[in-house]
Amino acid sequence: MADIAHKTDEQLIVEKHIANLHNGFAHWPRAEEAPPALGDSRWTQDLILATWLMAETGKPPENGLEYKIGASGGGFDVLDFNIPTEDKWLPADTEIDLSIPLNRRDDGAQLNINIPMYGGGMSYGSISEHVMQARARAAQHLGTFTSTGEGGYPPSLVLYKDHIITQVATGMFGVREETIQYAPIVEFKYAQGAKPGLGGHLLGDKATDVVAAMRESVPWVSLFSPFPFHSVYSVEDHRKHVDWIRTTNPRALVSVKVSTPTDVDMVAVGSYFAGAHIVHLDGSYGGTGAAPEIAKKNIAMPIEFAIPKVHKYLVSENVREEVTLMASGGVRTAYDVAKAIALGADGCVMGTAELIAIGCTRCSNCERGRGCPFGLTTTDPLLQQLMPADWGQQRIVNMYNAYAIQLRELLRKLGLRSIRELRGRRDLLKYVG
Ligand code: SF4
Repeated sequence: MADIAHKTDEQLIVEKHIANLHNGFAHWPRAEEAPPALGDSRWTQDLILATWLMAETGKPPENGLEYKIGASGGGFDVLDFNIPTEDKWLPADTEIDLSIPLNRRDDGAQLNINIPMYGGGMSYGSISEHVMQARARAAQHLGTFTSTGEGGYPPSLVLYKDHIITQVATGMFGVREETIQYAPIVEFKYAQGAKPGLGGHLLGDKATDVVAAMRESVPWVSLFSPFPFHSVYSVEDHRKHVDWIRTTNPRALVSVKVSTPTDVDMVAVGSYFAGAHIVHLDGSYGGTGAAPEIAKKNIAMPIEFAIPKVHKYLVSENVREEVTLMASGGVRTAYDVAKAIALGADGCVMGTAELIAIGCTRCSNCERGRGCPFGLTTTDPLLQQLMPADWGQQRIVNMYNAYAIQLRELLRKLGLRSIRELRGRRDLLKYVG
């Protein structure tokens, strides 16, 4: 009692929210018991609840929740797999390999990830430090990576540096020699699929003292990452960027994150010839609630069109086996990952799904410093306690473990022993619109 008497009202509210997160959401067994108006056509109520259930149990839902597709009426929601008859399935005990190599060139470190997914860039300031820690610990546990985003590299992440991608974006916020030297992979963010041509924007409300210090900027002043990189207008300019990274950290792989304009195939090939190891295509369906809706829905090419376009062009240029193609932008489920790979990607970069796993409801309040009701996209040190890092780590690990079960089951039914055999197998897909 004495302990409670010393707690402020605010602390008691935080504790109540944490208890709700731990005891409440994941135990909703049926969609009809969820709060009304949860989700949207891309992230339906069922998909959100199913992701919470997977994050709680580490297994695919068995209670009738739809966990494979949403209700957008397009994109991955109108694609399905042609599953052969049961006599063609592999035996249930077949070992199925989900690992993929990230470096297909003859230079730098040979990095493999155990699952064909890693975490996409979300910056310090756009998400809380607890969320960054949860994602980094989960990546370490799973044998994959997560990206810092463009807001700098908090010291608490250095422990997990072998699983963290350092992002370099146009604002160059928090980019330092040591953060390049830590990194097994350095990612140049040339554009985002959710808002191509618009750069990045952190509202002043989120630029607290610590966020601004990390970005070497003025507290409470909005920050813009301009579009484009004004030092890069050609493949040769990009080559200079790659040389800069390789000089600072010779073992680092270089990833190039681009959105999906109509000439994205040329961009990908140019990136390869400039020295990139990974080309990361970011399509139009992704982004948090901070990205403007009009940009998300109207500018970039949908990712399901961009992947085969780039894959085919890389094949025609005889370089497909020397570059890793990662896809993101609305990849929500294990089935979306498999569809992206069948269209020609090597793997996928995940963002929103990880936030959903740790309690996000898609309420679109991300841009405000104290707007996130679950303490995810907050810069408030008290609010971020709503999502303890160790709890978040376990939720993200569980979600990916459930995805791995689904991917192995799908590959077994398709008669494939490794996820690498699925790449480019568009013949296994069918249109179901
Ligand atoms: S719950 Fe938080 S992270 Fe999710 S959409 Fe709302 S404000 Fe953004």
